[in-house]
Amino acid sequence: MQELNNLSFDAKHIWHPYSSIAKPSPIHEVVSAKGVRLTLKDGREIIDGMSSWWSTIHGYNHPRLNEAAKLQIDQISHVMFGGLTHPPAVELARKLVNMTAEPLQKVFFSDSGSIAVEVAIKMAIQYWFAQGEPNKQRLLTVRNGYHGDTFGAMAVCDPENGMHSMFEHVLPKHLFAPAPTCQSDEDWQESDIAEFKQLISDHNDEIAAVILEPLVQGAGGMRFYCPEYLRQVRALCDQHNVLLILDEIATGFGRTGSLFAYEQADISPDVLCVGKALTGGYMTLAATLCNDKVVEGISADGSGVLMHGPTFMGNPLACRVACESLDILLESNWQQQVETIEKQLVNELMPYQSITLVKDVRVKGAIGVVELHHPVDEQMDWLPKFIVDQGVWIRPFRNLIYIMPPYIVNRDDLSVLTGAIGKIIERLAESS
Ligand SMILES: *Cc1c(COP(=O)(O)O)cnc(C)c1O
Repeated sequence: MQELNNLSFDAKHIWHPYSSIAKPSPIHEVVSAKGVRLTLKDGREIIDGMSSWWSTIHGYNHPRLNEAAKLQIDQISHVMFGGLTHPPAVELARKLVNMTAEPLQKVFFSDSGSIAVEVAIKMAIQYWFAQGEPNKQRLLTVRNGYHGDTFGAMAVCDPENGMHSMFEHVLPKHLFAPAPTCQSDEDWQESDIAEFKQLISDHNDEIAAVILEPLVQGAGGMRFYCPEYLRQVRALCDQHNVLLILDEIATGFGRTGSLFAYEQADISPDVLCVGKALTGGYMTLAATLCNDKVVEGISADGSGVLMHGPTFMGNPLACRVACESLDILLESNWQQQVETIEKQLVNELMPYQSITLVKDVRVKGAIGVVELHHPVDEQMDWLPKFIVDQGVWIRPFRNLIYIMPPYIVNRDDLSVLTGAIGKIIERLAESS
């Protein structure tokens, strides 16, 4: 029997994210990558506009990250974290505690963003349980959110945007306020938060925590909102005795123009989730940080035990690469890089606003979004090939064509990306 080539085997046997194995969509094979470029099996090089889902902020195949991984492999790749610790975990925790808001002092390492969210939710529920308030178990969030694919995280994702609706009946019922709409603090109106306010005051005896993606809602719609909303949420949480969890898994490490998005609102959360760019996109690692209030609360029953402990918790290899990635970030002029990307995205994407197909164009930090009037998903037969033929890697979903390139992207490469978005819209216009 003839062996299937990789693409055929893949189509036949492998599930990809949110994709059908019955009706596989076109797929490309990547063999290597360097800087902002992915090299395909056929030798073509394409510019990555996605940073492999927010993660490869320094680009691919980075010499310092490679070196860090290799050195660590020769020391120790993994050891259990129960009863043992190691320098990479301690060093990474030190860095995270130093670079996040002052009150965030305790770090829980986990294997992925979704798990960091699960841990955050557990922290909040355990906190109230230990306070003798076992009824405070629900979460309050906003629509259009995305917090991951595991069951606890799914339950706080937008209940209607389709990704998880079939699990509705097995998920806990949380509370959803409308998605924030205000775009700048100057336009702030009390009505922007009225429903949220009502929910938190009506239900505070059953709400453990509010969970939000600060300033940028990612996979739930690529929506942006103003810092004042976060300030108001922080004040309402304090007023109504509710913890605040911020999910910075997408926004963390500079993407929105500040190291963490909450800085722009001048607040700090009780619990913070980070992931994605933490290792510069090298491997999966996430962390949940919390303040002393949460730690003391959880410890109020005398034990302070947090009921979680993944097998690969604090994996030394991942922690070592994360340490190096954070060093690279903090030693770089990331702020300047993100600001330069932001300006160029504004200049090159805003003109698309005038195209009939386009509903909205928005830019925040190193994130550029073109929202169309209609979903592009049904164009997936020709679209992925068309995109790669433009020399770029962009992956539209629903009615969104968006990019969040590595911070190291140069002017010309970024222009190729924004130009490709223009060509995609043009081509969509022809076929509509
Ligand atoms: C990607 C993401 C997650 C989930 O992270 P995984 O590593 O995919 O489990 C959670 N929250 C936000 C905001 C994300 O962008």
